[in-house]
Amino acid sequence: TREHAIALVTGANKGIGRAAAQQLATLGMTVLVGARDPQRGEQAAAAIRAAGGTAHALTLDVTDAATIRAAAHWIEEHLGHLDVLINNAGISGSGQVDPGDAVDQIPSTVELDMVRKVFETNVFGVIAVTNAMLPLLRRSPTPRIVNVASHAASLTLFSDPNGPFAALLPSAAYSPSKSALLSLTVNYANELRKDGILVNAVAPGYVDTDSNNHTGFLTVEQGAAILVRMATLGADGTTGGFVSEDGPVPW
Ligand code: NDP
Repeated sequence: TREHAIALVTGANKGIGRAAAQQLATLGMTVLVGARDPQRGEQAAAAIRAAGGTAHALTLDVTDAATIRAAAHWIEEHLGHLDVLINNAGISGSGQVDPGDAVDQIPSTVELDMVRKVFETNVFGVIAVTNAMLPLLRRSPTPRIVNVASHAASLTLFSDPNGPFAALLPSAAYSPSKSALLSLTVNYANELRKDGILVNAVAPGYVDTDSNNHTGFLTVEQGAAILVRMATLGADGTTGGFVSEDGPVPW
C-alpha cells in the first residue's frame, strides 16, 4: 500500500466510487472526491473525514472541460502531483433501470443521441480527464490509472450465445461504451508503459447502486475492492489488464 499517496476518484459522491474513495482514505491516502454536484461531493468528503480520513471535494463533471481544467489546476496548486486516477464516473444511459432492461438501447431502434450521451461520459470523459491529469501523474513515483469498465464490456462474454449475457437485452450504448473503454485502456497502457504508468480496466461485478435501481447483489464495498486493488499495485504490477475480484476477465 502507498500511504500518503494522492488519489482522485471521479463520480465519488455515491455508489462504487464513493466506497473506493473511503477505502483509499482508510489506507492512508489523501482522497480527492470528484463530483459534478459540489454539495454532494462535499457531503461525501465530509463523511470520509468524519471516519478519520483525509478528503477534499473537487467539482468535476467529466463532460465539462472547464471543470476538468479547474480540478487539475487545484491539484497542481495545492498538492503538486497525483498518484492515482480512478475513472469511475459512468452512466447506464437509461436512467435508473437494470442495464439488462434498457429497451431504449436496443441496437435496431436506439436514438443516436442516447449513444452520444453514454459515450460522452463513459468514453470521451475518460480521455478528457486522463489527459488533463497525466502531467500531474507523471510527477508521481508510482502512477496508477484505473478505468471502471464492466463485464458488459467483454466481447467474449457477450458473443457466447449460451452464456448468461446472451439473456440480457442487446445494447448499442452502455455495453459498446465499456468495450471502447477496454480498448482505450490497452492503448493508454501501451503508450505509457515506458513511463512506468500502470493502466488497467476493472469489472466491479453486479453491485447494488442507483445505476441499476439497486438490483445488484454485491455491496458497494465489495464492488470497490478491485478498484482499490488496481489503484495500489506495486512496481511489478500488471498494465493493460482487465480484471475483477475473481481474476482476469476475458476481453
Ligand atoms: P452510481 O450511479 O451510483 O454512481 C455513478 C457516479 O458517476 C455518480 O457519482 C455520478 O454522479 C457520477 N457521474 C455520472 N456522470 C458524471 C459526469 N458527467 N461527471 C462526473 N460524474 C458523473 O453508479 P455505480 O456506482 O454503479 O457506477 C460506478 C461505475 O461502475 C460506472 O462507471 C458504472 O458503469 C460501473 N459499473 C457499475 C456496475 C454495477 O453493477 N453497479 C457494474 C459494472 C460497472 P451523480 O450523482 O451526479 O449522478
